[in-house]
Amino acid sequence: MCPNALYPPVDTRSTNCTIQTQYLRAIFTMASLAESAGVRTVNRKLILIGFRGVGKTSLVRRFVDKEFGPEDQYVPTIEQSFKKSVRIENIVFKTEVIDTAGKDEYATFSRQASVGAHGYIFVYSVTSQSSLDQLIKVRENLLNLIGSDTVPIVLVAQKCDLNEREISSAVGVQLAKEWNCPLLNVSAKMNVNIDKVFDTMLRLIEKDSGLLQPGKKPSCKIL
Ligand code: GDP
Ligand code: MG
Repeated sequence: MCPNALYPPVDTRSTNCTIQTQYLRAIFTMASLAESAGVRTVNRKLILIGFRGVGKTSLVRRFVDKEFGPEDQYVPTIEQSFKKSVRIENIVFKTEVIDTAGKDEYATFSRQASVGAHGYIFVYSVTSQSSLDQLIKVRENLLNLIGSDTVPIVLVAQKCDLNEREISSAVGVQLAKEWNCPLLNVSAKMNVNIDKVFDTMLRLIEKDSGLLQPGKKPSCKIL
C-alpha cells in the first residue's frame, strides 16, 4: 500500500513506497510536459497482407526490432501482433501491426484481423508474379467485406534488392495508379524504405482527419 503516492509520502521509510512515488511523479511530469507541448497520442491498427514468403514478417521485424534474418529461414507464421510507437509532427501513433498468415495464398481474408483496422499494407515480392495476382484478389475481397470502394492501402514492392524480377517497376506503378494508392520499393534485407512505409501509411490514414499537415515530407520518428 502506498497511501500518498502522488504527493510526498507520509512514510518515507518505506523504500517501495518511495520508488513508487518517484515513478508516479516521473510519469505525471512526462505526461504534463507532453500535454503542454500539444502532443497527442492515438492508436492505429495496421494490417500486413501478402502471399507467403513475400517478406511480411521481415518487414515488420525491421520496423519494430531493427532486425533481419536469419535469411532463408522460412517460418510460416501464425498471425502475430507487433507494437511500436512513432511520432509524426505532434502526434504519437501507437501502432499495432498485424502480421497475417495462414490461408492468405487463397486470397481469403482474415475478418478477425480486420476488425478495427485503420489501414492496410499490401506486400508483393518483385520476384513473384503470383504474389501480385493474389493481392488483386485480396483487395476485391476486402472491399466486399467492408462494403466500400476505397480503403487506405500502401502498396509495397518487397525484395527490391533482388535482380531476378518477375514484376517490373512499371507494372507496380500502373497498379498503384489504378488503386490510387502510394507505392514504395522496399527491401527488408537492405533496410530500404521501411520507416517510410509506416510514415506513408499513417499519413494516408490521417489524410482528411486534420491531425497532420497535408503534403508534408515523411518525418516519422521512431520512439
Ligand atoms: P512472409 O512469409 O511474408 O512473412 O515472409 P518472410 O518475412 O518470412 O520472408 C520470406 C523469405 O524472404 C525469408 O527467407 C527472408 O529472408 C526473405 N526476405 C525477406 N525480405 C527480403 C528482402 O527484402 N530481400 C531478400 N532478398 N529477401 C528477403
Ligand atoms: Mg511471415
